[in-house]
Amino acid sequence: MLRVVGLFLFVSLALAKHEIYEGYGLYKVLVKSADQVQLVNHLSHSLDLDVWAHALPGRDGQILVPKETKVLFENELQAAGVEFQIETDNIKELLDLEDQLHSAALQKSNNSRLDSLPFDQIYTYHQVDTFLEKLAAAHPDTVTLVNAGKSFEGRDIKYIKISSTNFEESRKPIVFMESLLHAREWITLPATLYAIHKLVIDVTEQDLVRDIDWIILPIANPDGYVHTHEEARFWRKNRNTNYPLCTGVDLNRNFDIFWGQASSNIPCSDVFHGAGPFSEPESSIINSIFQQYRHRIELFLDIHSFGSMILYGYGDGSLPPNALMIHLLGVQMAHAIDAVKMSWNANYVVGNVALVLYQASGSAGDYALGVGVPYSYTYELPGYRFGIGGLGFLVDPDFIEQAGFETWEGIKTGARFVRDNFKKKSFNLE
Ligand SMILES: [Zn+2]
Repeated sequence: MLRVVGLFLFVSLALAKHEIYEGYGLYKVLVKSADQVQLVNHLSHSLDLDVWAHALPGRDGQILVPKETKVLFENELQAAGVEFQIETDNIKELLDLEDQLHSAALQKSNNSRLDSLPFDQIYTYHQVDTFLEKLAAAHPDTVTLVNAGKSFEGRDIKYIKISSTNFEESRKPIVFMESLLHAREWITLPATLYAIHKLVIDVTEQDLVRDIDWIILPIANPDGYVHTHEEARFWRKNRNTNYPLCTGVDLNRNFDIFWGQASSNIPCSDVFHGAGPFSEPESSIINSIFQQYRHRIELFLDIHSFGSMILYGYGDGSLPPNALMIHLLGVQMAHAIDAVKMSWNANYVVGNVALVLYQASGSAGDYALGVGVPYSYTYELPGYRFGIGGLGFLVDPDFIEQAGFETWEGIKTGARFVRDNFKKKSFNLE
């Protein structure tokens, strides 16, 4: 009986937490010209809308619109002749469905010990934390857990180092990857956890551990991530409360590269860049990893969602000197993923971020290039498995393992490429 009451309370709380999204509509927007692109961007900005996917000719946009703004939004689009479709008139219903799917997956799962994490759930901050601790304790020969510092709200930010030579072999390249810099991009967590799984627990390709050192940071923005579980599923930023009016900084606009050039100085914006470069503890911690290892980091992968894209810098549209090689490796990684992806998902698109999406400054991916990491990419994992629609950030538990598995194919391709390149580089030095 108590369990029933407990379950009822849990379900009630879970349902109550999405009330802030009651009546929010998700719109698909189809633009046909540069003028329409500009109009939609301007409208989204002036109405302070949450743009999930930027509309471009040939590619649908996705915009989340609050209940009270829907009529105005629709009228403006109609007046300008911009075509749109309503994907859902009340996203809260889909959030409740997402909870139900995850609760059902949890009940089926048999994983109380957390010494490996089956890929049927999106794990909480505490579950991941416990897993990393146990992993390091069980594999002291290859895994080192590093507590790199605290988030704004005081949570530990932990990453693991995986190495067969205790990180002491300077002729090995380092692959550094992170997920959940943006809190709501839940499907990115399985990508890093899957990589950990294949490098430590179920090692089937020895060369990846033998030849490469790995740094993996699964939860780059722990406060934001906890907030998406407990309060607001579509929260993106960190949880810094020291700014006027609104909470949070977009950590992927807070890095010290072109800082402030293509981001917002308004704290309420979802792309607010903070008080200055590295004003936020979370981005500072990532910077300290770059500073410590930048001479050996050959590949940096910042895992985001959604859109099936592999993007590279710079965010202002200019290109690094080795852009051709960056592009070629991007295409190779994309092909590796496309070969095993779900048939209904789009092929990955590869390109410079400003060309494929929009200009952005202060990103982690650009910063990596800026400190001399030769290959740096932002992955945008697919977001099209929830039901039959394109409902970006929502995660169907059935897609979790696939997301980990297919992304790993891209990661491996990148890792082996830089391994082979790094060897050549070392020979040249000798
Ligand atoms: Zn993101």
